[in-house]
Amino acid sequence: MVHESCSSDQSFQSMMSITEVDDTDQNTEEVGQNENVFENILEESESSAEESEPETTVNYLNEAYGDLMSLVTKHRLSNVTGNAIINFFNKHANLKKSLLPKSIEQGRKYMDSMNLPSLTYNKTCVIKYNNIEYYLYHRSLINCIKNILSISDIPQNFVLNFEKVKVIILYFMQFAQFNGTVTIACYLLTIINLKHNGERVYAEQNTGIWWENAEKSLPPGAKLLSLILYSDSTNVDTLGKSQLHPIYLSIGNIKNWRRNKQDAKQLLGYLPILKSGDNTEKKSETFKNAAREAFHKSLEVLLDPLLKSNNKGIDLTLNHEKIWFYPRISVIIADWPEAATYCLTYKSSMSNYPCHFCLVTRDNLADLDLRIDDVIPRTHINMQQHFNQGSGKSVCIENLDNFFWKLP
Ligand SMILES: [Zn+2]
Repeated sequence: MVHESCSSDQSFQSMMSITEVDDTDQNTEEVGQNENVFENILEESESSAEESEPETTVNYLNEAYGDLMSLVTKHRLSNVTGNAIINFFNKHANLKKSLLPKSIEQGRKYMDSMNLPSLTYNKTCVIKYNNIEYYLYHRSLINCIKNILSISDIPQNFVLNFEKVKVIILYFMQFAQFNGTVTIACYLLTIINLKHNGERVYAEQNTGIWWENAEKSLPPGAKLLSLILYSDSTNVDTLGKSQLHPIYLSIGNIKNWRRNKQDAKQLLGYLPILKSGDNTEKKSETFKNAAREAFHKSLEVLLDPLLKSNNKGIDLTLNHEKIWFYPRISVIIADWPEAATYCLTYKSSMSNYPCHFCLVTRDNLADLDLRIDDVIPRTHINMQQHFNQGSGKSVCIENLDNFFWKLP
């Protein structure tokens, strides 16, 4: 197998807690109505950071579209039910061109991109490059979490504790097409459990080693809140906003089947994408460094509530019950170039240590006989050491402070 030790990597598994819920930064302003690219997507809300029922009052393509999505959201209808309504409407309205989305899924994507439940977007300047100020558009992390927890059927699909199950660990290799070169990426570690009746199912996060260890580090009585971050560029492309980089939040405590539904994720914000004059500039170190800096500064702003913690955790309501949680980032889902930006490893597949999980050499990447002892996992500890000693180059990391090192 290819460098299994990747599984123990900790750079993606940061521990943190929250005490204050202070969403307004000094550098942060609320988004004004005359904002450039965002004027169609963002809606200014009077109600500071408190959220209420989902609202659907923004610019839909037409009134029927808006009413439909409002109905579906308000009554939390399934896609199947929503699609049945679409078919019913189309059949009886007898219009040449339907006013409604092709499917509820499409409608949700549209909604997702322009109007999530009445949360205020803030904007924060994260970098000034070539005399242009670049802004992160973002929403409160804590309110996004609360929004997910407030969905009516989430509590019955929500786990609070580690569960020990009989596991078979499968290691997946993926042939990733990257920079025109086929490289073997150590990609996904999936834990599969065997149920009593022998039926094989994908296990939940709370059966994993990470959960077990993270839970042990909490004070007695506190519960782990597993946060998952990922970006989904497809939503952006449908709106022609390819100059934005959306980051979504999901919660690992929610059972897989439920978590994968559209409404169980929240749009945390849009990261800015820097503009370069030409290709030469785009390939320059100055530009690349600015892009990396903007990315990590954005993460710092987005995840600031986690940093402000002093190990007291946070009380959140689930099913009318207050629960003492410690939120921690468990997983970041990213493609290879994006993962390199998170980890600040060299992006080139020709780099000496191209893997962002571990220190496997380029020559050993495709070595199927590689043993677990042959590769050292990259962790926030050893990477930070190299950075501090000025030897980052020897392990192929960029000379930039990684935001994730700050998370306890
Ligand atoms: Zn690796």
